[in-house]
This record gives sequence, C-alpha cells and structure tokens, in this order.
Amino acid sequence: MERSDALELDAADPLHHFRDQFVVDDRDLIYLDGNSLGRLPRRAVAAVRAVVEDDWGRGLVRSWEHWIKWAQETGDLLAPLIGARPGEVIMSDQTSVNLYKLASGGLAAGGRRDIVTSSGNFPSDLYVLAGVAAAAGGRLRLVGTPGSSGPTPEEIDKAIDGDVGLVSLSHVAYRSGAIADMAAINAAAHDAGALVLWDLSHSVGSVPVDLADTEADLAVGCTYKHLNGGPGAPAFLYVRRDLHARLVQPIHGWFGHADMFGFASEYEAAPDARRFTVGTPPILSLAAARAGIEVTAQAGLGAIRIKSVALTQLIIDRFDERLSALGFRLGSPRNADERGGHVAIGHDDGYRMTKALIDRGVVPDFRDPDTIRFGVAPLYNGFTEVWDGIEHLAVVAETAAQERYPHQRSAVT
Ligand SMILES: *Cc1c(COP(=O)(O)O)cnc(C)c1O
Repeated sequence: MERSDALELDAADPLHHFRDQFVVDDRDLIYLDGNSLGRLPRRAVAAVRAVVEDDWGRGLVRSWEHWIKWAQETGDLLAPLIGARPGEVIMSDQTSVNLYKLASGGLAAGGRRDIVTSSGNFPSDLYVLAGVAAAAGGRLRLVGTPGSSGPTPEEIDKAIDGDVGLVSLSHVAYRSGAIADMAAINAAAHDAGALVLWDLSHSVGSVPVDLADTEADLAVGCTYKHLNGGPGAPAFLYVRRDLHARLVQPIHGWFGHADMFGFASEYEAAPDARRFTVGTPPILSLAAARAGIEVTAQAGLGAIRIKSVALTQLIIDRFDERLSALGFRLGSPRNADERGGHVAIGHDDGYRMTKALIDRGVVPDFRDPDTIRFGVAPLYNGFTEVWDGIEHLAVVAETAAQERYPHQRSAVT
C-alpha cells in the first residue's frame, strides 16, 4: 500500500465533509484518541453558549420547564444508535455509577448473589461489580485471562450456575477492541436464568448495537468517547421496558420519584426510566452531549461503521507492511467483524514511544503495560492522516526516538 492509495480513499470518502462540523484549529495534529475523548463538535459550542447565555443567563429557573425533559429526550435521541426503543434509554450520572445502579437492581431482581464478568473488563467495571456482589453476600466470578480477546459465549455458559444472577461485560473490549457476541451471550445467560448488563462505552457511536434484536436486558455507556459529548459528559443507561417495574435501583433520589414535585416523605419509584436516575442532571454537559449525539445520528451509524472498519484495516495493513518487523505486536482481532473502533499495538517500549509520538503531533493513548491504542473517528479522521500516524510510529522505532523519554508514567496515560 502506498500513501497515494490513502489519498484516493480520502477523495472517495462520503463522510469527508463531516470534519468541518468539528473544531479543528490544529490542522496538522493527527488525533487518534477519539475513543478516549472525541473532538469538539461546532454545534456543541453553539449549544452550550445558548444554554449559558439564554437559558441560564435570561431564563434562570424558568428554564427548568424544558430542561426537566432533557435527560429523557436525549436518551430517546441516542436510543436508535443502540437498537433501543423510545423510553428505554435515559441520560444520567456517570458510566461507573449507572453500572452500580443497574448491577445492584439486576442482581436483586433475580434473588441470586454472584456476578460473572471477564477478567479483561475495564477496571472500573471490575471494582463496581465486585462491590455489588460482595454487598449481596456473593462474589464476582472472572472468566478468561486478562488481555485475551474473549469472552466467548461458551466461557460464559460454563461460568453460570444457579448462584449467578447477573453477567456483566463490555461489548467492545477497552484494550483489544474485540467485539463480544452479544446475541449468543444473552441467550446463554437467559437459559441459565441470569440477566446481562452490557457496557457500551467503546461501542456507542462506533459499532452498531441492536439491544432489542439481541434481547438485551440492561446496558450503560459513556458519551464522551465516540459520541464526542465532551469531557465528563453525562452517561446513559438502558433498561428493557418489561424490566422497568421489576428493577429497583439502590439510590432513591427525587428525580427517580413517581411525583418529584409532590414532595412526599416516602419514596415511590417512577414507573418509567426516570426511576433509574437520582438527582439534578448537569445541564451544560447535557447540552454538549446532545450535540455530539446529533452529529453522529446525522451521519448515520451504517456509514460510520463502514469507514471505521476501513480505517482500522488500514492500520492493520500498515502494521503488517511496516511495524511487525520492528518489534511491534498486533493486539486486536484481524477479522473485521470481531473488531471495534480502535487498534491495539503492543511494544516493550510502548509507553515511551507514545510520548515520542505525541511530541511529533500524533496523539494515541497508552494502556499499561505495553499497549498503544489507535482510535479511529470516521467523522473527522481521514485515511491519509491515519497512514501518516502509523508511519510516524515506524520512524520513532527506526530512530529509537523514544530513548530520550523517561520510563516514569505521567498522571494520565
Ligand atoms: C470509558 C469507560 C468507562 C468510564 O467510566 P466513567 O464512570 O465515565 O469514568 C467505563 N467503562 C468502560 C468499559 C469504559 O470504556
């Protein structure tokens, strides 16, 4: 593959013009970390400014007349991106907090004590799930080895017995980018009488998800990665409609009350998805998140996924042609159907290479002990910049440019 091939792919790219919808003042920056924090959509700037100046500045408390519905309206906007129905998705809290609420409620609903997850799951998920299982008098059962691409439906099936009430997994693995078989895992768990709680943080806005079609029970996810919702943007949660009444989440706040302005002294859970929320939502952040979701919805997930696969394939092709002989290891699936929106490339000196790349104007991120993650964002990344980013990594390795950097990790990797 030649660089001119990448230029041709850019020329034929139907999503090319979406880059103009983002603030890109740094034309030469090769930003390949949209799977950690997506770029700023122009409409988010306008939306936040309008909320600050008009709603807050002039409307003041009267603006709650429309703000009060935003968590639900934004959830309904997001729902089609994950195959959910209206009323099944609501914006609330952070992913870790939503995971706690739905894991507690899901486990209690079945009257069982143990939770099954993958040992390679995101650490925050492991911590939250272990705490929920312990509080129920049970334990967290880990399947697979850390770093492996699993879990397979067979592994999950084997791990479930009559004590397991909940299986909780990431749909796209944060390290390898491997996609789990949602339909088969849901079926295996349901056969054994357990519910499944999916973390869609690395899927939403990048990989199509069909919660209704796969008969998924519960899901959570964040909006600041592929949805470009902004740092610390509110997360979402999904509960299948027929489970709303069965699930009691453990934090009883006034936003989850059936009649929040009735100011009753006893808690009564709302009949709809509001029962899974707790307190006042962050309106400024919600305005930005909504703008990010709108841009994704406008482009359409079908077109996004097609380009995402082509971009990650380009990284793998260039890995084979350029990186494999330089001591790098491919840490992501080669089969496109099993691969999400980023490619993991391992190297013994991966941390210092990431630092050297950043100084050369290429921004990936790094996950200990050895993984450089290259995220692709079809709405603003082009084929040529991805080609150039990988070429920079090859040159860093060839010139040992990383040797000028300390091994000491910075506060954020
Ligand atoms: C990014 C991510 C989170 C983030 O959780 P926060 O509560 O928003 O910090 C959680 N789970 C997974 C799988 C993630 O990738």
